[in-house]
Amino acid sequence: MTRPTNRALSPATRLAQALRFVDEASGAIIPAIHPSATYARDADHNLRTGLIYRRDGNPTTELAERIICDMEGAAETMLFSTGMSAALAVIEHLPAGAHVVVPDVMYYGVLGQFQTYEAKGRLDVSYYSAGDLSDMRALMRHGETALVWAETPNNPNWDVTDIPAAAEIAHAVGARLVTDCTATPPPFVRALNLGADISFHSATKYLNGHSDITGGVLSVRETGAHWDELLKVRNSQGTVLNTWDAYMLIRGMRTLMLRYERCTENALAVARHLEGHPGVEKVMYPGLPSHPDHEIAKRQTGGAYGGMLSILVKGNEQTAIDVVRACEVFYPATSLGGVESLIEHRKTVSGDGFPVHPCLLRLSIGIEDAGDLIADLDQALERAGAG
Ligand SMILES: *Cc1c(COP(=O)(O)O)cnc(C)c1O
Repeated sequence: MTRPTNRALSPATRLAQALRFVDEASGAIIPAIHPSATYARDADHNLRTGLIYRRDGNPTTELAERIICDMEGAAETMLFSTGMSAALAVIEHLPAGAHVVVPDVMYYGVLGQFQTYEAKGRLDVSYYSAGDLSDMRALMRHGETALVWAETPNNPNWDVTDIPAAAEIAHAVGARLVTDCTATPPPFVRALNLGADISFHSATKYLNGHSDITGGVLSVRETGAHWDELLKVRNSQGTVLNTWDAYMLIRGMRTLMLRYERCTENALAVARHLEGHPGVEKVMYPGLPSHPDHEIAKRQTGGAYGGMLSILVKGNEQTAIDVVRACEVFYPATSLGGVESLIEHRKTVSGDGFPVHPCLLRLSIGIEDAGDLIADLDQALERAGAG
């Protein structure tokens, strides 16, 4: 149903046209939503498309997978009902007792999954200081470490990991590198191209971009036994992305380039304004030259830093909470990567047990007018008495 993709066309064109999609039966340029739970065989009792049952997927979800696969330059891509179910599939596909090396600061939900499996004795987990490659290297065990997880830039401090360097460390002992680059989606950052073996994304965020579905995605550089195992986990858990959400995701991805570029532009304007603001102790944004990992971020993203930044409010924890409450344009809500700007007191959201500065506010910058966003933060910082 998809016309052959002309590789000479740029990602912007391929995305806007959903890989030049045309439904051959009707001529529709927008894919259908396929609610069928089961698939009839042909006159010879053979499968028509390989699909048997809803847990295997459906044509709408498969188109969404092909688009992400194309953007990543992957061998294969599969979509899950949430990012968390995709991350859990990575954990579940490992043999019992496998040694894994993961960051000590990262998206709290995925970190919590590793901690849970460690507590149950099902994984042997070593934690490296996020973004610190010499620490990562020191924890590797030759022929034993199965997997290294890297989130870049990481939640909620936005430290950047050098993906090619991390891949070299993982591969030197025979481990696979999994990257979570949810904050910098493909085609802007193509983790597999940089050396990752499995690229994870929460499709809930920039890929969809409208805060109206949840989804998770895994793409691999090479297929093989590990890919078959991941497929088996998704099939047995029934965590394939449903057809309606896949439709919404395809619709969202058509405007990914425009949205993400505007988010980056706005975030740069907000970050520059807040740097040196009397009510702000520190701005954490890889797009700022003052960020310790700025050069790596610049190389890895080509300047497409995205819309995620955090600030440390001058004052105490209550001052930071008061800033969130005083905002009139930013929504006081968790999540990221949507067209609307969000602000959250991260410690309130992630709860106890995760290392988060009490004065840290995480901002997801959307596509609104940058002047409105800056004015809102200025009045909120002032009303909260920050400084
Ligand atoms: C949101 C998020 C996840 C989890 O994805 P869900 O779609 O919410 O299940 C994982 N990693 C990062 C970096 C995220 O932002």
